[in-house]
Amino acid sequence: MPLDTTRFSTPVAACTPASGFLAPGIPVARPRLPAAEAILPYLQEIDANRWYANHGLLWLRLQSRLAAHWGLAAEEVALTANATLALALALRASGAAPGRKCLMPAWTFVATAGAAREAGLVPHFADVDPASWALDPEAVEARTDLDEIGAILVVAPFGRPLDLVRWDVVSARTGIPVIVDAAAAFDALRAGGPMAVGRAPVIVSLHATKSFGIGEGGAVLSRDSAWMERLRRLCNFGFLGSRQAVLAGTNAKMSEYAAAIGLAALDAWPGTREGWLAVTRHYAAALAGAPLPSSPGFGEDWVSATLSVLWPDDASEGVAALARVGIGALRWWGDGCHSNPAYAGSPRDPLPVTERIARCAIGLPFWRDMTATQVDYICGEALRAARGG
Ligand SMILES: *Cc1c(COP(=O)(O)O)cnc(C)c1O
Repeated sequence: MPLDTTRFSTPVAACTPASGFLAPGIPVARPRLPAAEAILPYLQEIDANRWYANHGLLWLRLQSRLAAHWGLAAEEVALTANATLALALALRASGAAPGRKCLMPAWTFVATAGAAREAGLVPHFADVDPASWALDPEAVEARTDLDEIGAILVVAPFGRPLDLVRWDVVSARTGIPVIVDAAAAFDALRAGGPMAVGRAPVIVSLHATKSFGIGEGGAVLSRDSAWMERLRRLCNFGFLGSRQAVLAGTNAKMSEYAAAIGLAALDAWPGTREGWLAVTRHYAAALAGAPLPSSPGFGEDWVSATLSVLWPDDASEGVAALARVGIGALRWWGDGCHSNPAYAGSPRDPLPVTERIARCAIGLPFWRDMTATQVDYICGEALRAARGG
Protein backbone atom coordinates (compact mmCIF):
# COMPACT_ATOMS: atom_id res chain seq x y z
CA MET A 1 0.00 0.00 0.00
CA PRO A 2 1.76 3.14 -1.08
CA LEU A 3 2.00 5.41 1.91
CA ASP A 4 3.40 8.81 2.52
CA THR A 5 6.23 7.85 4.86
CA THR A 6 6.33 11.35 6.30
CA ARG A 7 3.00 10.55 7.88
CA PHE A 8 4.19 7.38 9.61
CA SER A 9 5.35 9.14 12.75
CA THR A 10 2.89 10.18 15.39
CA PRO A 11 3.58 13.80 16.30
CA VAL A 12 5.17 13.85 19.73
CA ALA A 13 3.09 16.97 20.45
CA ALA A 14 0.09 14.66 20.61
CA CYS A 15 1.40 13.28 23.90
CA THR A 16 0.95 15.12 27.19
CA PRO A 17 4.11 16.88 28.34
CA ALA A 18 2.30 17.72 31.62
CA SER A 19 2.62 14.08 32.65
CA GLY A 20 6.37 14.45 32.41
CA PHE A 21 6.41 11.47 30.07
CA LEU A 22 6.88 12.04 26.38
CA ALA A 23 6.09 8.78 24.64
CA PRO A 24 8.27 8.43 21.57
CA GLY A 25 5.96 8.28 18.57
CA ILE A 26 5.57 4.68 17.47
CA PRO A 27 4.94 4.65 13.71
CA VAL A 28 2.34 2.31 12.21
CA ALA A 29 4.90 0.86 9.78
CA ARG A 30 8.64 1.00 9.46
CA PRO A 31 9.69 -0.74 6.25
CA ARG A 32 13.20 -2.16 6.15
CA LEU A 33 14.67 -3.20 2.82
CA PRO A 34 18.15 -4.67 2.23
CA ALA A 35 20.98 -2.39 3.33
CA ALA A 36 23.15 -0.73 0.70
CA GLU A 37 26.08 -3.10 1.33
CA ALA A 38 23.90 -6.14 0.64
CA ILE A 39 22.78 -4.65 -2.67
CA LEU A 40 26.26 -3.48 -3.72
CA PRO A 41 27.57 -6.77 -5.20
CA TYR A 42 24.49 -6.91 -7.44
CA LEU A 43 24.94 -3.29 -8.49
CA GLN A 44 28.55 -4.09 -9.40
CA GLU A 45 27.27 -6.93 -11.58
CA ILE A 46 25.06 -4.44 -13.38
CA ASP A 47 28.10 -2.19 -13.90
CA ALA A 48 30.01 -5.12 -15.39
CA ASN A 49 27.10 -6.29 -17.57
CA ARG A 50 26.21 -2.77 -18.80
CA TRP A 51 22.62 -3.99 -19.05
CA TYR A 52 20.12 -1.80 -17.20
CA ALA A 53 16.62 -2.76 -18.34
CA ASN A 54 14.71 -5.05 -20.73
CA HIS A 55 15.07 -8.55 -19.31
CA GLY A 56 18.62 -8.31 -17.99
CA LEU A 57 20.59 -11.04 -16.29
CA LEU A 58 19.60 -10.01 -12.75
CA TRP A 59 15.97 -9.67 -13.79
CA LEU A 60 16.06 -13.20 -15.23
CA ARG A 61 17.70 -14.56 -12.09
CA LEU A 62 15.16 -12.86 -9.81
CA GLN A 63 12.35 -14.26 -11.94
CA SER A 64 13.59 -17.82 -11.61
CA ARG A 65 14.44 -17.50 -7.91
CA LEU A 66 11.00 -16.06 -7.14
CA ALA A 67 9.41 -18.80 -9.24
CA ALA A 68 11.23 -21.39 -7.09
CA HIS A 69 9.96 -19.60 -3.95
CA TRP A 70 6.39 -20.00 -5.25
CA GLY A 71 6.92 -23.54 -6.58
CA LEU A 72 6.54 -22.47 -10.21
CA ALA A 73 8.66 -22.68 -13.36
CA ALA A 74 10.62 -19.54 -14.27
CA GLU A 75 8.40 -18.83 -17.28
CA GLU A 76 5.34 -18.90 -15.01
CA VAL A 77 6.43 -15.64 -13.32
CA ALA A 78 6.64 -12.17 -14.93
CA LEU A 79 8.22 -9.25 -13.09
CA THR A 80 6.57 -5.85 -13.40
CA ALA A 81 7.06 -2.25 -12.34
CA ASN A 82 4.36 -2.57 -9.65
CA ALA A 83 1.25 -4.60 -8.85
CA THR A 84 -1.33 -2.02 -9.89
CA LEU A 85 -0.14 -1.89 -13.52
CA ALA A 86 0.17 -5.68 -13.48
CA LEU A 87 -3.49 -6.00 -12.39
CA ALA A 88 -4.64 -3.68 -15.18
CA LEU A 89 -2.62 -5.58 -17.78
CA ALA A 90 -3.78 -8.95 -16.40
CA LEU A 91 -7.38 -7.82 -16.95
CA ARG A 92 -6.47 -6.93 -20.53
CA ALA A 93 -4.61 -10.21 -21.08
CA SER A 94 -7.75 -12.06 -19.94
CA GLY A 95 -9.78 -10.37 -22.66
CA ALA A 96 -12.17 -8.43 -20.41
CA ALA A 97 -13.84 -6.09 -22.92
CA PRO A 98 -13.66 -2.36 -22.11
CA GLY A 99 -16.94 -0.95 -20.80
CA ARG A 100 -17.92 -4.15 -19.02
CA LYS A 101 -18.12 -4.55 -15.27
CA CYS A 102 -15.26 -5.78 -13.15
CA LEU A 103 -16.70 -7.38 -10.03
CA MET A 104 -14.52 -6.75 -6.94
CA PRO A 105 -14.84 -6.53 -3.18
CA ALA A 106 -15.55 -3.08 -1.73
CA TRP A 107 -13.20 -4.05 1.09
CA THR A 108 -9.90 -3.52 -0.69
CA PHE A 109 -7.20 -0.96 -1.37
CA VAL A 110 -8.01 1.63 -4.06
CA ALA A 111 -5.42 0.11 -6.42
CA THR A 112 -7.85 -2.76 -7.19
CA ALA A 113 -10.48 -0.37 -8.55
CA GLY A 114 -7.86 1.87 -10.17
CA ALA A 115 -6.50 -1.10 -12.12
CA ALA A 116 -9.98 -2.00 -13.39
CA ARG A 117 -10.53 1.58 -14.57
CA GLU A 118 -7.10 1.59 -16.20
CA ALA A 119 -8.18 -1.50 -18.15
CA GLY A 120 -11.32 0.35 -19.31
CA LEU A 121 -13.65 -1.63 -17.05
CA VAL A 122 -16.32 -0.38 -14.63
CA PRO A 123 -15.63 -1.41 -11.03
CA HIS A 124 -18.69 -3.01 -9.45
CA PHE A 125 -18.36 -3.33 -5.69
CA ALA A 126 -19.66 -6.45 -3.96
CA ASP A 127 -19.81 -7.13 -0.23
CA VAL A 128 -17.40 -9.51 1.51
CA ASP A 129 -17.89 -12.57 3.68
CA PRO A 130 -17.56 -11.59 7.36
CA ALA A 131 -15.56 -14.77 8.07
CA SER A 132 -12.90 -14.20 5.40
CA TRP A 133 -13.12 -10.46 4.60
CA ALA A 134 -13.01 -11.62 0.96
CA LEU A 135 -15.57 -12.23 -1.82
CA ASP A 136 -17.73 -15.30 -1.27
CA PRO A 137 -17.51 -17.66 -4.29
CA GLU A 138 -21.03 -19.04 -3.66
CA ALA A 139 -22.50 -15.53 -3.60
CA VAL A 140 -20.72 -14.68 -6.85
CA GLU A 141 -22.04 -17.82 -8.59
CA ALA A 142 -25.58 -16.99 -7.44
CA ARG A 143 -25.58 -13.48 -8.95
CA THR A 144 -28.23 -12.66 -11.55
CA ASP A 145 -26.08 -10.08 -13.38
CA LEU A 146 -23.26 -12.40 -14.48
CA ASP A 147 -23.87 -11.57 -18.15
CA GLU A 148 -22.81 -7.96 -17.45
CA ILE A 149 -19.53 -8.94 -15.80
CA GLY A 150 -16.35 -9.02 -17.88
CA ALA A 151 -13.96 -10.05 -15.11
CA ILE A 152 -13.90 -10.96 -11.43
CA LEU A 153 -11.07 -9.46 -9.38
CA VAL A 154 -10.77 -11.32 -6.09
CA VAL A 155 -8.60 -9.90 -3.30
CA ALA A 156 -6.61 -11.81 -0.68
CA PRO A 157 -7.26 -9.37 2.18
CA PHE A 158 -4.04 -8.28 3.92
CA GLY A 159 -2.26 -11.35 2.53
CA ARG A 160 -4.71 -13.92 3.89
CA PRO A 161 -4.73 -17.04 1.66
CA LEU A 162 -7.68 -17.77 -0.62
CA ASP A 163 -8.82 -21.13 -2.01
CA LEU A 164 -7.86 -20.57 -5.63
CA VAL A 165 -9.17 -24.00 -6.72
CA ARG A 166 -12.63 -22.82 -5.66
CA TRP A 167 -12.20 -19.63 -7.72
CA ASP A 168 -11.20 -21.70 -10.75
CA VAL A 169 -14.53 -23.50 -10.35
CA VAL A 170 -16.33 -20.13 -10.30
CA SER A 171 -14.53 -19.12 -13.48
CA ALA A 172 -15.32 -22.44 -15.21
CA ARG A 173 -19.01 -22.35 -14.19
CA THR A 174 -19.61 -18.72 -15.14
CA GLY A 175 -17.24 -18.43 -18.10
CA ILE A 176 -15.89 -15.21 -16.56
CA PRO A 177 -12.12 -14.74 -16.12
CA VAL A 178 -10.95 -14.51 -12.51
CA ILE A 179 -7.87 -12.48 -11.60
CA VAL A 180 -6.40 -12.57 -8.12
CA ASP A 181 -5.14 -9.44 -6.37
CA ALA A 182 -2.80 -11.18 -3.93
CA ALA A 183 -0.72 -8.03 -3.47
CA ALA A 184 0.15 -8.82 0.16
CA ALA A 185 0.27 -12.62 -0.17
CA PHE A 186 3.96 -13.10 -1.04
CA ASP A 187 4.33 -15.59 1.81
CA ALA A 188 0.96 -17.38 1.66
CA LEU A 189 1.81 -18.28 -1.95
CA ARG A 190 5.14 -19.92 -1.06
CA ALA A 191 5.81 -23.46 -2.37
CA GLY A 192 3.88 -25.86 -0.13
CA GLY A 193 2.14 -22.91 1.56
CA PRO A 194 -1.57 -22.37 2.23
CA MET A 195 -2.40 -20.68 -1.12
CA ALA A 196 -1.61 -22.79 -4.17
CA VAL A 197 -1.71 -21.12 -7.59
CA GLY A 198 -4.38 -22.59 -9.83
CA ARG A 199 -5.49 -21.51 -13.29
CA ALA A 200 -6.34 -17.91 -12.45
CA PRO A 201 -3.47 -15.43 -12.73
CA VAL A 202 -2.19 -14.08 -9.42
CA ILE A 203 -0.62 -10.67 -8.86
CA VAL A 204 1.80 -9.95 -5.99
CA SER A 205 3.15 -6.55 -4.92
CA LEU A 206 6.79 -6.07 -4.00
CA HIS A 207 6.14 -2.56 -2.67
CA ALA A 208 8.21 -1.37 0.28
CA THR A 209 5.24 -1.71 2.65
CA LYS A 210 4.65 -5.40 1.84
CA SER A 211 6.37 -8.30 3.65
CA PHE A 212 8.86 -8.78 0.78
CA GLY A 213 9.58 -5.26 -0.39
CA ILE A 214 11.99 -4.01 -3.03
CA GLY A 215 10.72 -0.41 -3.20
CA GLU A 216 8.40 -0.56 -6.21
CA GLY A 217 7.76 -3.82 -8.04
CA GLY A 218 5.26 -6.53 -8.82
CA ALA A 219 5.02 -10.11 -10.03
CA VAL A 220 2.45 -11.98 -12.09
CA LEU A 221 2.03 -15.73 -11.55
CA SER A 222 0.30 -17.89 -14.15
CA ARG A 223 0.60 -21.45 -15.41
CA ASP A 224 -1.09 -20.59 -18.72
CA SER A 225 1.68 -20.01 -21.28
CA ALA A 226 -0.53 -18.39 -23.94
CA TRP A 227 -1.96 -15.99 -21.35
CA MET A 228 1.53 -15.27 -20.03
CA GLU A 229 2.75 -14.43 -23.51
CA ARG A 230 -0.02 -11.81 -23.86
CA LEU A 231 0.82 -10.40 -20.44
CA ARG A 232 4.52 -10.15 -21.26
CA ARG A 233 3.75 -8.39 -24.52
CA LEU A 234 1.38 -5.93 -22.80
CA CYS A 235 4.17 -5.09 -20.32
CA ASN A 236 6.69 -4.51 -23.13
CA PHE A 237 5.05 -2.28 -25.82
CA GLY A 238 3.50 -5.38 -27.38
CA PHE A 239 6.94 -6.81 -28.19
CA LEU A 240 8.15 -10.29 -27.44
CA GLY A 241 11.34 -11.46 -29.09
CA SER A 242 10.99 -9.02 -31.98
CA ARG A 243 10.25 -5.34 -32.51
CA GLN A 244 6.76 -5.97 -33.86
CA ALA A 245 3.98 -4.66 -31.59
CA VAL A 246 1.51 -7.51 -31.83
CA LEU A 247 -0.65 -6.04 -29.04
CA ALA A 248 -1.07 -2.39 -28.07
CA GLY A 249 1.10 -2.63 -24.99
CA THR A 250 2.56 -0.24 -22.49
CA ASN A 251 5.79 -0.26 -20.50
CA ALA A 252 5.40 -2.05 -17.17
CA LYS A 253 8.82 -3.68 -16.96
CA MET A 254 10.84 -3.95 -13.78
CA SER A 255 14.28 -2.35 -14.09
CA GLU A 256 17.55 -4.18 -13.52
CA TYR A 257 18.22 -2.01 -10.44
CA ALA A 258 14.95 -3.09 -8.85
CA ALA A 259 15.91 -6.70 -9.60
CA ALA A 260 19.23 -6.11 -7.77
CA ILE A 261 17.31 -5.09 -4.64
CA GLY A 262 15.03 -8.08 -5.14
CA LEU A 263 17.96 -10.52 -5.23
CA ALA A 264 19.42 -9.03 -2.05
CA ALA A 265 15.98 -9.15 -0.40
CA LEU A 266 15.57 -12.79 -1.41
CA ASP A 267 18.99 -13.70 0.06
CA ALA A 268 17.75 -12.25 3.36
CA TRP A 269 14.18 -13.59 3.15
CA PRO A 270 14.50 -16.50 5.65
CA GLY A 271 15.60 -14.07 8.36
CA THR A 272 13.09 -11.45 7.26
CA ARG A 273 10.29 -14.00 7.48
CA GLU A 274 11.46 -15.09 10.95
CA GLY A 275 11.14 -11.46 12.03
CA TRP A 276 7.57 -11.14 10.70
CA LEU A 277 6.69 -14.47 12.28
CA ALA A 278 8.07 -13.49 15.70
CA VAL A 279 6.13 -10.20 15.74
CA THR A 280 3.00 -11.97 14.48
CA ARG A 281 3.20 -14.59 17.23
CA HIS A 282 3.90 -12.04 19.91
CA TYR A 283 0.88 -9.94 18.89
CA ALA A 284 -1.33 -13.03 18.54
CA ALA A 285 -0.42 -14.10 22.08
CA ALA A 286 -0.82 -10.60 23.54
CA LEU A 287 -4.25 -10.17 21.93
CA ALA A 288 -5.56 -13.70 22.62
CA GLY A 289 -8.92 -13.44 24.34
CA ALA A 290 -8.87 -9.63 24.17
CA PRO A 291 -11.84 -7.69 22.79
CA LEU A 292 -9.77 -6.68 19.72
CA PRO A 293 -10.22 -9.48 17.17
CA SER A 294 -7.56 -9.45 14.46
CA SER A 295 -8.21 -9.80 10.75
CA PRO A 296 -9.11 -13.34 9.59
CA GLY A 297 -6.24 -15.82 9.58
CA PHE A 298 -3.78 -13.57 11.38
CA GLY A 299 -1.31 -15.75 13.31
CA GLU A 300 -1.85 -18.79 11.08
CA ASP A 301 0.84 -20.26 8.78
CA TRP A 302 1.59 -17.13 6.74
CA VAL A 303 2.97 -13.68 7.36
CA SER A 304 2.14 -10.27 6.05
CA ALA A 305 3.24 -6.71 6.84
CA THR A 306 0.09 -5.40 8.50
CA LEU A 307 -2.06 -6.13 11.51
CA SER A 308 -5.62 -4.88 11.51
CA VAL A 309 -7.89 -5.36 14.51
CA LEU A 310 -11.56 -4.56 14.99
CA TRP A 311 -12.10 -1.75 17.47
CA PRO A 312 -15.22 -2.16 19.63
CA ASP A 313 -16.70 1.04 18.20
CA ASP A 314 -15.66 3.72 15.76
CA ALA A 315 -12.12 3.19 14.44
CA SER A 316 -11.43 6.92 14.13
CA GLU A 317 -11.93 7.25 17.88
CA GLY A 318 -9.46 4.41 18.36
CA VAL A 319 -6.91 6.10 16.10
CA ALA A 320 -7.28 9.33 18.08
CA ALA A 321 -7.03 7.54 21.45
CA LEU A 322 -3.86 5.73 20.35
CA ALA A 323 -2.34 8.96 19.01
CA ARG A 324 -2.76 10.50 22.48
CA VAL A 325 -0.39 7.86 23.87
CA GLY A 326 2.09 8.16 21.03
CA ILE A 327 0.95 5.13 19.04
CA GLY A 328 0.51 5.49 15.31
CA ALA A 329 -2.46 3.66 13.80
CA LEU A 330 -3.94 3.70 10.34
CA ARG A 331 -7.22 2.64 8.81
CA TRP A 332 -5.45 0.94 5.89
CA TRP A 333 -8.51 0.72 3.60
CA GLY A 334 -10.36 3.69 5.12
CA ASP A 335 -14.14 3.55 4.74
CA GLY A 336 -13.79 0.96 1.98
CA CYS A 337 -12.76 1.36 -1.66
CA HIS A 338 -16.30 2.35 -2.71
CA SER A 339 -16.21 5.38 -0.38
CA ASN A 340 -13.40 7.11 -2.24
CA PRO A 341 -14.61 10.13 -4.23
CA ALA A 342 -13.23 8.64 -7.47
CA TYR A 343 -15.66 5.72 -7.17
CA ALA A 344 -18.71 7.58 -5.84
CA GLY A 345 -20.58 6.86 -9.08
CA SER A 346 -19.50 3.24 -9.43
CA PRO A 347 -22.19 0.53 -9.29
CA ARG A 348 -22.35 -1.49 -6.09
CA ASP A 349 -24.38 -4.00 -4.14
CA PRO A 350 -25.60 -3.26 -0.61
CA LEU A 351 -22.39 -3.38 1.49
CA PRO A 352 -23.36 -3.96 5.14
CA VAL A 353 -20.42 -6.24 5.99
CA THR A 354 -17.82 -4.03 4.34
CA GLU A 355 -19.27 -0.99 6.12
CA ARG A 356 -19.16 -2.70 9.49
CA ILE A 357 -15.56 -3.88 9.02
CA ALA A 358 -14.45 -0.51 7.61
CA ARG A 359 -16.00 1.36 10.53
CA CYS A 360 -14.02 -0.67 13.08
CA ALA A 361 -10.77 -1.85 11.42
CA ILE A 362 -7.57 -0.27 12.71
CA GLY A 363 -4.04 -1.05 11.59
CA LEU A 364 -1.74 -1.25 14.62
CA PRO A 365 2.03 -0.64 14.43
CA PHE A 366 3.62 -3.61 12.72
CA TRP A 367 7.09 -4.11 11.37
CA ARG A 368 9.43 -7.04 11.33
CA ASP A 369 12.06 -5.87 13.82
CA MET A 370 9.83 -4.24 16.41
CA THR A 371 10.60 -5.22 19.98
CA ALA A 372 8.56 -7.33 22.37
CA THR A 373 8.44 -4.31 24.68
CA GLN A 374 6.87 -2.22 21.94
CA VAL A 375 4.27 -4.90 21.18
CA ASP A 376 3.40 -5.25 24.87
CA TYR A 377 3.15 -1.49 25.32
CA ILE A 378 0.94 -1.13 22.23
CA CYS A 379 -1.36 -4.01 23.24
CA GLY A 380 -1.65 -2.72 26.80
CA GLU A 381 -2.53 0.78 25.68
CA ALA A 382 -4.84 -0.43 22.91
CA LEU A 383 -6.79 -2.65 25.31
CA ARG A 384 -7.06 0.15 27.86
CA ALA A 385 -8.30 2.58 25.20
CA ALA A 386 -10.70 0.01 23.72
CA ARG A 387 -12.23 -0.58 27.15
CA GLY A 388 -12.67 3.18 27.40
CA GLY A 389 -10.13 3.46 30.22
C1 LIG B 1 -0.39 -2.96 -2.06
C2 LIG B 1 -1.64 -3.31 -2.75
C3 LIG B 1 -1.81 -3.02 -4.12
C4 LIG B 1 -0.86 -2.16 -4.89
O1 LIG B 1 0.41 -2.69 -5.09
P1 LIG B 1 1.54 -1.78 -5.79
O2 LIG B 1 2.68 -2.70 -6.02
O3 LIG B 1 1.87 -0.69 -4.80
O4 LIG B 1 0.98 -1.21 -7.04
C5 LIG B 1 -2.94 -3.50 -4.75
N1 LIG B 1 -3.88 -4.19 -4.08
C6 LIG B 1 -3.79 -4.47 -2.77
C7 LIG B 1 -4.86 -5.27 -2.10
C8 LIG B 1 -2.67 -4.02 -2.06
O5 LIG B 1 -2.57 -4.30 -0.76
